[in-house]
Amino acid sequence: MGLSKKLVGALGRVSDGVGRLLPGRGLDYRRRQPVGFYEHDRAVERLLESFRNVPAGRRVRLAKKTSNLFRGRHADNVGLDVSGLNGVIAIDPVAGTADVQGMCTYEDLVDACLPYGLAPTVIPQLKTITLGGAVTGMGVESTSFRNGLPHEAVLEMDILTGTGEIVTASPEENVDLFRGFPNSYGSLGYAVRLKIELEEVHDYVDLAHVRFHDPQTYAEAMGEIVEAGTFEGRTIHGLDGVAFSPHELYLVIACGTDKAGPTSDYTREQIYYRSIQHPEGILRDRLSIRDYIWRWDVDWFWCSRAFGAQNPTVRKLWPRDLLRSSFYWKLIGLDRRYDIEHNLINRPNGLPHRERVVQDIEVTVDRLPEWIEWFFSASDIQPMWLCPIRLRGGVEKLAGSGDVLADADSPWPLYPLGPGVTWINAGFWSAVPGDHVSADAEPGAFNRVIEKKVSELGGHKSLYSEAFYTREEFAELYGGELPGQLKKRYDPAGRFPDLYEKTVSGA
Ligand SMILES: Cc1cc2nc3c(=O)[nH]c(=O)nc-3n(C[C@H](O)[C@H](O)[C@H](O)COP(=O)(O)OP(=O)(O)OC[C@H]3O[C@@H](n4cnc5c(N)ncnc54)[C@H](O)[C@@H]3O)c2cc1C
Repeated sequence: MGLSKKLVGALGRVSDGVGRLLPGRGLDYRRRQPVGFYEHDRAVERLLESFRNVPAGRRVRLAKKTSNLFRGRHADNVGLDVSGLNGVIAIDPVAGTADVQGMCTYEDLVDACLPYGLAPTVIPQLKTITLGGAVTGMGVESTSFRNGLPHEAVLEMDILTGTGEIVTASPEENVDLFRGFPNSYGSLGYAVRLKIELEEVHDYVDLAHVRFHDPQTYAEAMGEIVEAGTFEGRTIHGLDGVAFSPHELYLVIACGTDKAGPTSDYTREQIYYRSIQHPEGILRDRLSIRDYIWRWDVDWFWCSRAFGAQNPTVRKLWPRDLLRSSFYWKLIGLDRRYDIEHNLINRPNGLPHRERVVQDIEVTVDRLPEWIEWFFSASDIQPMWLCPIRLRGGVEKLAGSGDVLADADSPWPLYPLGPGVTWINAGFWSAVPGDHVSADAEPGAFNRVIEKKVSELGGHKSLYSEAFYTREEFAELYGGELPGQLKKRYDPAGRFPDLYEKTVSGA
């Protein structure tokens, strides 16, 4: 691969405007033309104008069409016009970088990059997650074992701050904002442009699904493979896994290849997460790179089963282009509005409301067996997604830079994952009976138990969903005084809710 492939992609674009033909399904692939800097600047002007039109003292929010936040939000903040900020601005295939608008979805970003044989370094699994949302909200994916998190590929960002200005943040400029932005969830400002590194990808991946029967052996193997970065002598592109129980665990190892050949299709009757299950040893499969990237989106990992989409008869009738997370979000919206599950299923059967348990947490790889054993004994939720993360090398040079953050010992202090350590993200998205812990349990009872257990194991919890920490507990876990100090500088009048208000109080 290398320069020649990028040039073929670039020339293809010039000659027919489409670029290389993408292998694989590409059912919802659409041609993405970069919007260019002129259009981008006009869109930023409109955003600034809409900010200026909000009376001083009123709080603002993004008026976005999609969201992947699971917690509720108060609706009284005034929406800002971000309508023209959802595209790719420009791709430089030779430098391997892209200038991208803050509200550009990964679906659009990936489709703009793949014709050049390039892709973002980390691509969260849900198509409508945006670059700005993933950088500020700590997205994670199977390349995180070698590429860390999305913010680590950011070279510079333009951010609308609470003063109504656009501020550029990079390792050289406004370093405190650059380092404090990940896990700030829009409490310091909104990224409108991000310049990111891309990486070269192969057209296909060979998959090896490796079966394990106990969490200890599983965690050891995961740790060793992360360190080695290779499997059967080949460089690994992606590594994640699924635990169905403490006795049925899989590693999913993906190695890139350009060799053409048959590939599987999980956008029809076959269901990806079921395809990895087998009794013993290694099961092999092959996907186009695009299908690999979006393999979890089709069935929202496994959550589409709640809507009946995995019932063979229903699936045959289900429109193929509605097998995607953005459609399931719409169904969730209806359920929240009309309390459908409770009214149609639970109440008629005399059952209580169920407590939603939609969370991602991280523990270090050595604590993973304890986490897995505990989780499966404490709930009947299954499966659980597991994904290793290692922060990228070289980030240490950022620590100590910027006056507010001078003493912060983590390069990204609002979510202090230590560098040089293998962390495992565990994702579980389901519900438990409302009286799971005790009949008079407080709201979020099982979620609170999880928070306690994760802290006990020295881990963290992502903040895209419900959280129940007190302000003191929260400060201990997510940067102490720093979010407040950064806010004084970049949002002195409090035009955005603060991090605690956003992530715990639902502001
Ligand atoms: C069921 C479920 C599964 C998930 N699975 C994954 C997963 O597999 N991998 C993964 O990486 N993540 C996952 N997430 C989490 C997701 O990445 C985060 O919630 C992310 O922040 C969503 O980004 P979004 O673009 O949809 O933003 P939104 O949901 O619209 O907003 C999220 C937050 O980010 C802020 N924000 C949005 N855009 C910007 C911006 N441009 N600048 C500053 N702040 C901004 C918003 O104010 C808000 O506080 C999952 C979430 C859910 C609910």
